[in-house]
Amino acid sequence: MSLTATDPIQHEEGDLTGPLQRLFGFSAFRAGQEEIVRRAVEGRDTLALMPTGAGKSLCYQLAAMLRPTPTLVISPLIALMKDQVENLPPDVARQATLINSSLDPGEASRRLQGLAAGEYKLLYAAPERLRQRQFVAALRSVGLGLVVIDEVHCMSMWGHDFRPDYMFIRRALSELGDPVVLGLTATATRTTEQDISRSLGRDLEPVRASVVRPNLRYEVEQVENEEARLRSALAHAKARTGSGIIYARSREKCEQVARTLEQKGVRALHYHAGLESSERSRVQEAFLQGRIQVIVATTAFGMGIDKSDIRWVLLYNFPNSLESYVQMVGRAGRDGKPSTCVLLASHADERNLRRFARQDIPAVDDLRGVYRALRRRAEDGRAEVTAEELAGDAGLADESQPRVLVGMLERTGLLRREYDAGRAMTVRLTLPPPADAAGRIEQLLAAYDQQATTRAERMIGFAETRTCRHQQVARFFGEEVRVPCGMCDVCAPDASEVVAPETASRPLPADIARTIVDTVDSLSWPLGLKGLTLALKGSVAAPRSAQRSPSFGALEAAKEGVIKRWIERLVDGGHLEFFESEDGYRLLRTGDTSGLPTLHAVTPSASKSKAAGGVEDLSGADAELFERLRTWRLERAQKAGVAAFVVLSNGALREITEVRPTNLRALRDVNGIGPSKIEQYGEEILALVRDTG
Ligand code: ADP
Ligand code: MG
Repeated sequence: MSLTATDPIQHEEGDLTGPLQRLFGFSAFRAGQEEIVRRAVEGRDTLALMPTGAGKSLCYQLAAMLRPTPTLVISPLIALMKDQVENLPPDVARQATLINSSLDPGEASRRLQGLAAGEYKLLYAAPERLRQRQFVAALRSVGLGLVVIDEVHCMSMWGHDFRPDYMFIRRALSELGDPVVLGLTATATRTTEQDISRSLGRDLEPVRASVVRPNLRYEVEQVENEEARLRSALAHAKARTGSGIIYARSREKCEQVARTLEQKGVRALHYHAGLESSERSRVQEAFLQGRIQVIVATTAFGMGIDKSDIRWVLLYNFPNSLESYVQMVGRAGRDGKPSTCVLLASHADERNLRRFARQDIPAVDDLRGVYRALRRRAEDGRAEVTAEELAGDAGLADESQPRVLVGMLERTGLLRREYDAGRAMTVRLTLPPPADAAGRIEQLLAAYDQQATTRAERMIGFAETRTCRHQQVARFFGEEVRVPCGMCDVCAPDASEVVAPETASRPLPADIARTIVDTVDSLSWPLGLKGLTLALKGSVAAPRSAQRSPSFGALEAAKEGVIKRWIERLVDGGHLEFFESEDGYRLLRTGDTSGLPTLHAVTPSASKSKAAGGVEDLSGADAELFERLRTWRLERAQKAGVAAFVVLSNGALREITEVRPTNLRALRDVNGIGPSKIEQYGEEILALVRDTG
């Protein structure tokens, strides 16, 4: 009799630690793992909710080794599958395999035969595989006992990561003879949880590991503009010695931040989906091996990254949701040692997040367009169409869109998507078309809109609200923590190790035009429009050569946009001129510097933002209201011990003055005022508005 762990009856009841040690070399289970493994081995449907890095994979890997029949793992991270299988301990790796589109059909069917012959106990595949009738048929003959759905929140349209192919899992399960289901995710709220069970047609019993990470210190830092953001990131990177990740929203930002850090002597590289895959691996390796200290990345980085000593994570911009926040900061401190997670927040970024949240919402016309196209193509209610064809028919720009839109239409009950026919989707329309088709589409979009807005507002509320950060996160996932937690900027404000540099600026020189022209003359290295602007602004992102110039930061009191316009005026007047360098850059040099114009700090287009800080251009009742709001804000800020703009931005004060909201709804439409502000200050602000003028 062999001693491989293939048969559950070989183990004494209750003993899962033996196989854990023997197969994986771990001495003990982490919180939640044992119960999840036990349930999966015993054949009970389970939803495992564990934070990132808590060890979800182990649960199904071990369960699969202990079950008598093979297990299928559905995972959306195709790129990571190969790594996952290769990194299994040898005794497990030998019994695991994967099927993906890079395999030739012969090899794929060999692996399926191997599975049937008992050679493998664990098969990884992507969800879109299940749309292939032959694949499911082959699995049926294998006789799966357990189907694992990793990242199971992708089933929910309300989650942040809806994948239409997950909708087909329910159908596949029934074709497979209803095997046991184990769903795993780091990020399910109660709503998502219910949606998962509904979409699967099964009641999965939840097993939760706490989202509370007591070794992580959560900090939120308000920054007033892009320059302050960059300086703060630099200050954090310089002050900390351990490895860190900076997450930024755009690729361009990643590159800029990494470049600036590098210039300032921090070993940093950028990482995003726009890099060649060999370049990505190179950067990742450098980070894993500690050859660079900081990786500046978009969210593309980090899924499945196994580095336990990341000492800090800095979120340069708002993540899309509190779920993503938890996922990103969760990459810090997996070794249990104290680590810091900083979120940089600003009002401009709040507005961006609100805009982004709604940007993702499909347009009603696109949904209708797809539905109409399908009806035109359908014969007897059945249509076979590729994503490209559908995108063409409905005039969609993006080819990943049609599948999502078809998934949404499926959700409204207007159609059903079945097994694919080769590369084409097969769609069966509900006939006769329901009379309220248009209404159903609108209703779905309204619900989608509401979810997207709520998601963004929760994230913003997290940053705005001065209550324990750990408590806020815990409550969001249905838990509680004891406050004060001692591990966030609210409960322990003095424990912060990094103080972001003050951006006190020197006053503008009397002769701005002369200053600019002299700067251009004095540079050791010519600069283009952008570089000169940054140099005059004194930005940490300015080219290194300019940072040594005595004029560096000469105009730092002015906004970047204003400096740029000044330079452009000098170019228009022939006082500065562009020339092309040998390597093709458009650089600036001085031209005719006689008769320089007088440049003013307040140019007409800049007057609005300038005045937002004061009451210069307000009169009578408006000026009075603005002043009263400012006084009120100052009192509030002093009481809370925060900077005034943390309470409300100047822009918000100004907008309130202009709009004079009479109810909370109207107040809510003011930029920079979210639910938490409404809750904290709404009535007071309305009273001020009522009582003034
Ligand atoms: P996630 O929950 O994010 O999917 P992973 O499954 O990738 O997390 O696991 C994170 C890390 O934790 C892996 O390196 C894994 O080997 C390790 N790990 C999992 N379970 C244990 C355990 N019981 N003891 C020690 N390390 C573990
Ligand atoms: Mg995982």
